[in-house]
Amino acid sequence: EELYGVNRWGAGYFSIGDNGSIQIAPNHRLPDVTIDMKEVIDEIIAEGIQFPAVIRFHDILRSQVEILNETFQNTIEDAKYDGKYVGVFPIKVNQMREVVEEIMDAGEPYNYGLEAGSKPELMAVMAYNENPNALTILNGYKDEDYLTLALLGRHLKRKMIIVIEKLSELEMLIPLAKKLNVEPLIGLRSKMMVRSSGKWAGSSGDRAKFGLSITEILNIIEMLKQEDMLHCAKLLHFHIGSQLSDIRKVKEAVSEGARLYAKLMQMGVPLEYLDIGGGLGIDYDGTSSTTDSSRNYSTEEYVADVVYGVKQVCDLEEVPHPNLVSESGRAITAHHSCVVTNIVGEIRNTGNKFDISPAEDEHILVSNMRELINASDLHPQECYNDAASFKTSAYEAFKLGILSLPEMAKIDTMYWQILSDIHQSLDREGFVFQELEELEDMLASQYLCNFSIFQSAADTWAINQVLPIVPLTRLNEKPEVRCTIVDITCDSDGKLSKYIEGTEISDNIPMHKLKKDEQYHVGMFLTGAYQDVMGDMHNLFGRLTEVHIYCHDDEPGDFYIEEIVPGTSAEKVLATMQYNTEYMAQAVKKCIDKEVRKGLLAPREGVRWTDFYEKCLAGSTYLKV
Ligand code: PLP
Repeated sequence: EELYGVNRWGAGYFSIGDNGSIQIAPNHRLPDVTIDMKEVIDEIIAEGIQFPAVIRFHDILRSQVEILNETFQNTIEDAKYDGKYVGVFPIKVNQMREVVEEIMDAGEPYNYGLEAGSKPELMAVMAYNENPNALTILNGYKDEDYLTLALLGRHLKRKMIIVIEKLSELEMLIPLAKKLNVEPLIGLRSKMMVRSSGKWAGSSGDRAKFGLSITEILNIIEMLKQEDMLHCAKLLHFHIGSQLSDIRKVKEAVSEGARLYAKLMQMGVPLEYLDIGGGLGIDYDGTSSTTDSSRNYSTEEYVADVVYGVKQVCDLEEVPHPNLVSESGRAITAHHSCVVTNIVGEIRNTGNKFDISPAEDEHILVSNMRELINASDLHPQECYNDAASFKTSAYEAFKLGILSLPEMAKIDTMYWQILSDIHQSLDREGFVFQELEELEDMLASQYLCNFSIFQSAADTWAINQVLPIVPLTRLNEKPEVRCTIVDITCDSDGKLSKYIEGTEISDNIPMHKLKKDEQYHVGMFLTGAYQDVMGDMHNLFGRLTEVHIYCHDDEPGDFYIEEIVPGTSAEKVLATMQYNTEYMAQAVKKCIDKEVRKGLLAPREGVRWTDFYEKCLAGSTYLKV
């Protein structure tokens, strides 16, 4: 647990069992009831499902909804806060229907609602948030159709709040609402002065893409007054960025937002809700610090800072406490899903051997390199420098046609052997070695993992996000190999570059030696927020097969696969790129038939090849192992 940080980023949901397999405790009310990942993998294999697959633990999703709502409810009670908490889930964080349905079901007792940021998302939330007591918050840029749909929601007695991001949206909304004779619920999104830090710092400040300046808010209020619609202004919203790593920024934002709310109330704007947006972070790297992939606070501290912070400002300003809304997406969904895949190969510089025995007339560079092997009198540092220098010279000599291919192969074999011997001698003799990290990086194997980073972990590529990656079994064996994880796309960017090792972030990670005839499964965790839905089809690798796991209520520790959602087949992926796969199959068949007619292929063989091509079209885009 220590080595891979499972106890730190696992948030109580993940641990390592005595059998060396990851254990999942998906229900926060029953922390001792665990599911064995090995059993999950075995059942998935028994169902005939190929890896890679996304595994969703729906009970974790429910737990996260309960924890957030109950923490707000309990803190509100303790603080004697007068308002209620009515949170919403922003579906952009994970729009999968099953995820949204589960969240709505778990959130029903708390009147937990949904947030949409685009027209298609609005159409989804209209269909899936039928609770008249739950909010539907409508953010993002809007056109007339968007606003008309929102007004339809009011006809359906939904608490749909149209959050105005730009003055022009209100100018469009007012005549539309009058024409359709519907009274809208209006929210105002404020551009915040507090500067958040981290990857999403651009969400606040003067140059933020969204929100209204104070001047614009005051002009809007004037406009609403003139139209006799001031009573429609119900909510004040802000969002200073996702994955807030420093609690001080949360406090600052709450203080600024609450002050703005209070001042608007004093001006006679009848606000009922203060919406603090998203930002509640996840400790992806397990460091509980202000790195971009962590946070230096707990959910309880976050909620306490919001509730007590708003209360303090409102009491000082003598205005009523607003109902509190938050739009946490990452915190609700990140833990519930993981990508499970297998290692399909190893790329190892030290693994290739060529006969290095001395040859007559061999070049001096080859002999020089040979002398470094077993040069026990040399300090490892000197040996390392000499080997590097001979290798560079050999490369130059090869370009000039001086060294032959076999001589280059000898130099290469000896070079990697020398590096590997140096590394072992460091352990044995306790030498101080300046380039240890560089040496370990060079010697690290590359484990070829059956997945695409661009499809399953987009943020690791795009913004250097750290996601925990852990072998799922053999965790009671010492991992002997240092390696990096590379994916199966034809792109050298398709690799993970940051790994959790102990309390540090490393450039490579210890894993176990691969065994012949035994699958080595690894899991990439905390992929439920954004990663699940943001991926693209680079190299035409499609969406993964999904396996939805539920716990048996009456049999602790037992689970069942409730649903399997097949991954995108090759033909579906090709169709999205405008290929007509029926035409493709016919074209290939025609060519095969031609060979059959020429007598170059037996008719039976021709049929077999045709069937095989069609089978591959219907099959998975990932490697079949
Ligand atoms: N609300 C708004 C307006 C957002 O832009 C975002 C994401 O950046 C969220 C909510 C969700 O934030 P998080 O995933 O950090 O909870």
